[in-house]
Amino acid sequence: MKIMKFGGTSVGSPDRMKALIPLISDSERKIVVLSAMSGTTNSLVEITNLLYADKINEASLRIDELRSKYQKVVEELYSTDEFRKSGQDLIDSHFEYIRNFTLRVFTKLQEKAILAQGELISTSLFHLLLQERNIKAVLLPALCFMRIDKDGEPDAFYIKENLRRELKKYVADNIIITQGFVCRNAYGEIDNLKRGGSDFTASLIGAAIKASEIQIWTDINGFHNNDPGLWKKLR
Ligand code: ASP
Ligand code: MG
Repeated sequence: MKIMKFGGTSVGSPDRMKALIPLISDSERKIVVLSAMSGTTNSLVEITNLLYADKINEASLRIDELRSKYQKVVEELYSTDEFRKSGQDLIDSHFEYIRNFTLRVFTKLQEKAILAQGELISTSLFHLLLQERNIKAVLLPALCFMRIDKDGEPDAFYIKENLRRELKKYVADNIIITQGFVCRNAYGEIDNLKRGGSDFTASLIGAAIKASEIQIWTDINGFHNNDPGLWKKLR
């Protein structure tokens, strides 16, 4: 079994998402780990900063901007009205969820729940795309198996036990889609593996199931042992 991780740019537009289909359609069983569409996590971070600063109107505006971006994605991603409708419903429910946080006191817990939405949306949209194309696939929520401990480090034992148990439910499925970045913490709350964490998700999953291969699909040339964006910041 192999792991194929696609980063933000690889799912960054409807065309890019469609281009993943031939890549994942060989007969080998695989777990497909997706990031949020590029720019989304940054936008969500901005929204959470505005909410922390109690700038509710500005935050609402940014939420609406992001929502309309996704409405356009849905229009282009699906070719039938039935699936466009399902896609819109999906976007509506995620953005209603985000909007609800403008009505309450804003804490770290809410921040983490908002930051998880990018990956939750990209994986659901992609799963829906495969359904429209009649390609059999399951969406396995990372929240069912990915976990960090009290020190914020991955809980390798928990991940292995829970992932293996979940995978047993889907032995007949060749394509298993899950979210990068998203996890639960030691208290069972929604948390994340820090910015850029989807690569980490792919590695943790690969180690937990002793995968034959972990593929990281990215738009960055070569391997980096540090923040690959650093050279830009230093220029
Ligand atoms: N979406 C997250 C981020 O932008 C995780 C990732 O893409 O690896 O940091
Ligand atoms: Mg990355």
